[in-house]
Amino acid sequence: MILQGKSVFGGIAVGKLALYRKRDDQVKRKKISDVEAEIRRFEKARKQAKEQLGTLYEKALKEVGEVNAMIFEVHQMMLDDLDYIESITNMIRTQGVNAEFAAATAGDNFSQMFAAMEDDYMRERAADVRDISNRLIAVLQGTASGGIDGEEPVILLADDLAPSETVQLDKSRVLSFVTRGGSTNSHTAILARTMNIPALIGVDFFGSGSKRQDETSAEEDRFAEDGWPDWDGKTGIVDGYTGKLYIEPDEKTLSEYRAKKEADEQKRRLLQELKGKANVTSDGREINLYANIGSVSDAAGALANDAGGIGLFRSEFLYLEAEDYPGEEVQFAAYKTVAENMAGKKVIIRTLDIGADKQADYFGLAREDNPAMGYRAIRICLERRDIFKTQLRAIYRASYYGTISIMFPMIISVGEVRQIKEIIAEVKAELNAEGFLYRDCELGIMIETPAAVMISELLAREVDFFSVGTNDLTQYTLAIDRQNPKLDNIYDSHHEAILRMIRMVVENGHKENCWVGICGELGADTTLTETFIRMGIDELSVTPSMILPVRDAIRKSRAFSQDFAR
Ligand code: PEP
Ligand code: MG
Repeated sequence: MILQGKSVFGGIAVGKLALYRKRDDQVKRKKISDVEAEIRRFEKARKQAKEQLGTLYEKALKEVGEVNAMIFEVHQMMLDDLDYIESITNMIRTQGVNAEFAAATAGDNFSQMFAAMEDDYMRERAADVRDISNRLIAVLQGTASGGIDGEEPVILLADDLAPSETVQLDKSRVLSFVTRGGSTNSHTAILARTMNIPALIGVDFFGSGSKRQDETSAEEDRFAEDGWPDWDGKTGIVDGYTGKLYIEPDEKTLSEYRAKKEADEQKRRLLQELKGKANVTSDGREINLYANIGSVSDAAGALANDAGGIGLFRSEFLYLEAEDYPGEEVQFAAYKTVAENMAGKKVIIRTLDIGADKQADYFGLAREDNPAMGYRAIRICLERRDIFKTQLRAIYRASYYGTISIMFPMIISVGEVRQIKEIIAEVKAELNAEGFLYRDCELGIMIETPAAVMISELLAREVDFFSVGTNDLTQYTLAIDRQNPKLDNIYDSHHEAILRMIRMVVENGHKENCWVGICGELGADTTLTETFIRMGIDELSVTPSMILPVRDAIRKSRAFSQDFAR
């Protein structure tokens, strides 16, 4: 079966498919008519949960040693506990309820019982029994760890993935993303690019209105009980160039794609020859080429691809990964690690850009009708100063360990920049009083609102650099929600309005001695590299895997041309 979607990142993936169903936190009570079938379903899930725990035990044994791995053995034993099993099967039999509900109730009852015990060891088992019940429920709901429990990396199929879910996935186990929803410029798509894996969006798994390209046999068309296709564990191919997803391809297609993948890798190896070479045009203009990252571990990809620095560290992902506000020490450790790993190369940390599609529950942000234009980013930071100051303190403390610049998102006025500077002065005074060491950091702003473009001459007097955020700038200029899949076809970052704006920002920035870069996705568009250079751009910051292709494009460009009329 071949399904058609839209590619957000190229490349080929061949591997096992895993369906990622959203975990339903609220376990619903349902009436069951066939009680014995429900008990069999529970038994099957219990067996599967035990197998998962066995795999986890083996893995932990290798990675963290026997003492730490023991917990998975304990959990396996608990799943064999007769009292626990009977409590669930009795509830299904006598009350005629679904297995999920019975497992959740037994989990609650047993954990309360353990929590009330005198013995410390037994009290600690309360969390374990809750854990095994959750595992059972996840298996029953088909949401076990997002479908990526095994050792083997998988092609992940999801309805849609929020950025907060994407950052929490075990990235070493994902070969490719395929989603039904999503848009090319969503943060989930950006994360797929950072992970350097092929990704498709808009693939209609359920077949209604599907762009299926061939006939399918009844056998292939089977759907699982919950209405999802029955593809878990089957072989798939993702073609990130054509946007095609193959389910159970024949041998001929498989070998063709294996060959294409090999050719891709060959191309990548050729690009490796550009490592260590300058980002210089054929007529001698050099620009900076930096990497965009979303986590501390992404810095490895930046270095491996020979980035000259980090042009955008999306710090909000630290917040999205966490269950509660990350404190000063946690953030300090993260920023310090990146600064140290980059060994003196520039690291531009963008302060918290939460809100819109990037939501963390603990912020308690109200639902808004128009979140992209709502309470987000610097607007939150200037109001909730405790959060902002914690982050600034952590960044300044980390600045001592490398070369850190700070950048502020979603700026629309000079007044905002002045307020930021006042807060920075307070932070520095506090750090001085407490005896912390820090360096002075270059300060910059994102240019991602039309307002910032129009007053860029005034803003340039306030800061050291600008970085054009073309993702938001496109959405605000063209009045096209970057999250709306229906508008993806007309979301056009090449629009003349955007190109003119970038040129205007460069000119205004340079008048005031302010360097100008691009960190939106457009910066990695090699069809525009020469155009940007001719506009006078000083820096491009791109997803790590695009560093070498962009370097290649820079080296093939000419900075000056007599016929350049733009
Ligand atoms: C942008 O808007 O272009 C940008 C780089 O920021 P983000 O994509 O994180 O909104
Ligand atoms: Mg933005």
